[in-house]
Amino acid sequence: MRAVDIISRKRDGLELSRAEIESFIAGYVAGDIPDYQAAAWLMAVLLRGMTPEETAYLTEAMAYSGETLDLHDVAPFVVDKHSSGGVGDKTTLVVGPIVSSFGVPVGKMSGRGLSFSGGTLDKLEAIPGFRTDLSIDAFKRQLQEIGLVVAGQTQVLAPADGKLYALRDVTGTVPSRPLIASSIMSKKIAAGADGIVLDVKAGHGAFMETEEAAVELAELMVAIGTRLGRKMTALIGDMSQPLGLAIGNSLEVVEAVQTLQGAGPEDFSQHSVDVAAEMLLMADRAATPGLARAMAERSLHDGSAWAKFREFVAAQGGDLAAVDDPSLLPAAPIVMELPAPRSGNISLVDPRELGFAVVELGGGRERKEDDIDPAVGIVLADDTKLGRAVEAGKPLMSVHARDAESLDRVAPRLAAAVQISEEPGEPRSHTHRVIRAAEGA
Ligand code: URA
Repeated sequence: MRAVDIISRKRDGLELSRAEIESFIAGYVAGDIPDYQAAAWLMAVLLRGMTPEETAYLTEAMAYSGETLDLHDVAPFVVDKHSSGGVGDKTTLVVGPIVSSFGVPVGKMSGRGLSFSGGTLDKLEAIPGFRTDLSIDAFKRQLQEIGLVVAGQTQVLAPADGKLYALRDVTGTVPSRPLIASSIMSKKIAAGADGIVLDVKAGHGAFMETEEAAVELAELMVAIGTRLGRKMTALIGDMSQPLGLAIGNSLEVVEAVQTLQGAGPEDFSQHSVDVAAEMLLMADRAATPGLARAMAERSLHDGSAWAKFREFVAAQGGDLAAVDDPSLLPAAPIVMELPAPRSGNISLVDPRELGFAVVELGGGRERKEDDIDPAVGIVLADDTKLGRAVEAGKPLMSVHARDAESLDRVAPRLAAAVQISEEPGEPRSHTHRVIRAAEGA
């Protein structure tokens, strides 16, 4: 099968067969199909879409593009979670330790930054020495010994997603429902989880802008996982403003550490509790959502989630001194506060613009081969949240930059990203709804 014919068929809006999809993915992973043809095909998929059947075939072709883990020799029931992407989303860093602190094994394959959205691997690698490129043996050993492991796609685990993910990031082909669903679910299937909680975000800081689109994405992924024998739950969460206050790799590690010590921002702490509670329910560790939430909250306050995080960081080679004392994490040389131009109520905190500003500061990639700067980013003030009152002259955020030039470049974007109005603002709830597959949703 010629790659150009498969690209042309999708360009013309035709439905691809399982054989065509498998041949394209296998050819790309083998290096027979170059990046430029894969990029053209991704754009055709983004513009023309895929049927649920095509998306399921794509997911399976990507999941089985390398080895798939069977973890039952080291753990009877492994849970995993995955976010569909958002700004300030450091949920895995907190939820993994909470759930694992109750003896539920969490084995996870994560991704890097994608467009305006940060990525868990980039955040964890802000901790000096932290390794995410793990062999299958190392992944399994750590799952058995510590009960918590987070790795990236490798040459052997979900290699198709590793290559396509990096290409999508720099070719404008991220916000496509079939591409997001197959990317997420192929990683989850390859990493061998028995139960998967999807944290699907809706809003301008997510790839799905409306709650309706987020629900469609969630239902598509729940159907793929259920068909492949996984226990599935999806939360639909708010991304109309950043999650928590910190955006940027090192800064988000600091906020995760504060949260694990019971002192995180309210919205992010509550969101982490919501996601962790669903994982605990899925693993039958709690009889009701209320009890599961109480357990998750307790672990943030009694030190058990924090202790598990430290074990996890040490197991993956991270420097414990830098998480014990976050002032030792990479820090930007310039920190500038941006004051509120007037008093009023916050009516906009544009997550997408803030996410792109962090990419522009050097915290994300413009090209596949770019290195990122872990130190740069933004920390919003406590009151820079929808509906809160602010006073003229008080800081709206602090910007952490490598140099004055990059700071000047992003200043107009940052100034436009936050708006203040005289009208009383609307606070937002952070979890809109939960879809539990077992309930037939
Ligand atoms: N997370 C992923 O792993 N892939 C996507 O496409 C989006 C979010």
